[in-house]
Amino acid sequence: MFFLLDAFFATSFLLNQGLEKTLVQGEIITIGNELTSGMTLDVNAWYAAGRLTASGLRVTRITSVGDDYPSVSRALKSAMEASRFVIVTGGLGSTEDDLTNEIVSKALNRPLCLDKEMFAIIKRHASMQGTEVCSSLEKMAWVPDGSRMLSPEGRACGFSLVENEVRLYFLPGVPEQMRYLIDHVVIPELRKLYKKLPVTICRTLKVYGLNEPHIAEIFRDLEKKTGKAVLGFYPHFPENHITVSLTAGDAREAVQELDRIEKQIRNKLGTALFATGNDSMAEVVGKLLVAKQLTVSVAESCTGGLIGHLLTAVPGSSRYFLGGIVSYSNEAKMELLGVRAGTLEAKGAVSNETVQEMAEGIRNRLHSDLGIAVSGIAGPEGGSKEKPVGTVHVALASAEGTVSRKYRFWGNRQAVKLNSATMALDWMRRYANGDPLLPGI
Ligand code: AMP
Ligand code: MG
Repeated sequence: MFFLLDAFFATSFLLNQGLEKTLVQGEIITIGNELTSGMTLDVNAWYAAGRLTASGLRVTRITSVGDDYPSVSRALKSAMEASRFVIVTGGLGSTEDDLTNEIVSKALNRPLCLDKEMFAIIKRHASMQGTEVCSSLEKMAWVPDGSRMLSPEGRACGFSLVENEVRLYFLPGVPEQMRYLIDHVVIPELRKLYKKLPVTICRTLKVYGLNEPHIAEIFRDLEKKTGKAVLGFYPHFPENHITVSLTAGDAREAVQELDRIEKQIRNKLGTALFATGNDSMAEVVGKLLVAKQLTVSVAESCTGGLIGHLLTAVPGSSRYFLGGIVSYSNEAKMELLGVRAGTLEAKGAVSNETVQEMAEGIRNRLHSDLGIAVSGIAGPEGGSKEKPVGTVHVALASAEGTVSRKYRFWGNRQAVKLNSATMALDWMRRYANGDPLLPGI
């Protein structure tokens, strides 16, 4: 799983000099007017590129074209000039605009022939779904001469051709069907064909609470020490993700080297590094709270329930999350959490004093180990000179007492809410880890 999902962060990492010459190069062409008009996001190219790259194959170009003869034939001919394989997705369906078979037939001068086996499968699928077998369904089984059906799975089966020693794969556009064929047919076939492909592994390190100049500084320093590995930096608001990609002769070798590099990065990033791999902040928090047998409750103002939402997005969160109160008005803060009128009057709803009383209030009412509270000004209105938009206070109440801190977050309303909620989760993580509690941002 780690290998599979992490590969999606792979981008420009096959620059390794020593292995460059041995890499098998290919291209991806995605076909569909819905892609070139911006109606549909091209997830097929993203998936195929990630999987191929992780399998030691090199994708040198991704092209998206509309469902028309000049664009598809031009893209296909151009891709075939410099590639050992070309993956084409889309245009295999039964509707009028699905023209890939006809275009390929014309472009490669291979007449369309009825693939009887494919037609039988299509008919079987149609009858299972109660669809009438009509000429538009039969059209899907007329494939360029010399084509080989890829798999009896799915309604659009996909086919492959070898033309001038270039392996061409034509896959359905439906992402689910395309993914199946990539994983079960295309990649195993290419790996068998091109033995001894190098392995590329990409690891993601997730950071929260360090500002970008700080990370840039660390990054510059690291790049000198990572040897063959290629680093990538991806802001993923409000987190920052660092990817380390390595291409090696075998997986064990790559993993060992990645472990070595990760250790160095860990030393540099310290407690700001909250996850390696795919875990979200809330998942990291959940695992820690379970391990430390801690329960938590939340009192939310400007985050409007977002902290509770993030916590409960994790399956099994009932083991540590007891509940929360969204106390948006002063009345709710007083009545539901026991915040004192005097505190609100003297210090305001967005203050260390109020947020501390909120955290203590929720902890006492729900009898949790930790009470976390957030109150702030998400904007765009409601700011003042003393308390500008983005001013947010976070508090944590525990058996050891209550601590709070003021932050100034930037960005629009959503950004302020998300950053505030993430900070609250980060406080839980830090408390459970025994790390210093009050990180700067
Ligand atoms: P097609 O094989 O061209 O008939 O595609 C069937 C459906 O799959 C389209 O209507 C799109 O919704 C979806 N689709 C096709 N190509 C892509 C792509 N590259 N990325 C995401 N969805 C796609
Ligand atoms: Mg289409």
